[in-house]
Amino acid sequence: EAAAKAAADTADSGAPTIFDKIIAKEIPSTIVYEDEKVLAFRDINPQAPVHVLIIPKIRDGLTQLGKAELRHADILGHLLFAAKLVAEKEGIVDGFRVVINNGAEACQSVYHLHLHVIGGRQLKWPPG
Ligand code: ADP
Repeated sequence: EAAAKAAADTADSGAPTIFDKIIAKEIPSTIVYEDEKVLAFRDINPQAPVHVLIIPKIRDGLTQLGKAELRHADILGHLLFAAKLVAEKEGIVDGFRVVINNGAEACQSVYHLHLHVIGGRQLKWPPG
């Protein structure tokens, strides 16, 4: 039963996610960058000294990158540019990683597209 629940939690149901509450500021987050289209905030379980998530404020079907359509190209570019701004702001622009986990096999757990911006230490390759 626990395994079934874990599987259900990693499925893309299209249901609202915890990130809606973060966008609505109904639950607290530490915001590091924000503009009209995207929000960047610190990951609650950081994997490096800098670990920031960047999300579109309007999900618009982008539960995961694999669901992207051409109409999302503008927001996808905006998210990636925001990653560069965050890296600059955090002082890691000379060495950082941008990660998108897509789907259960990549351990995606929140189905609202998000970029992880990770840095502040020597990163290893390949990732696990
Ligand atoms: P994973 O959980 O395997 O890292 P994701 O790529 O879906 O998969 O990442 C979701 C991220 O959201 C996780 O790094 C998790 O720590 C982070 N997270 C979950 N809830 C919150 C929250 N309330 N505030 C900040 N970060 C959160």
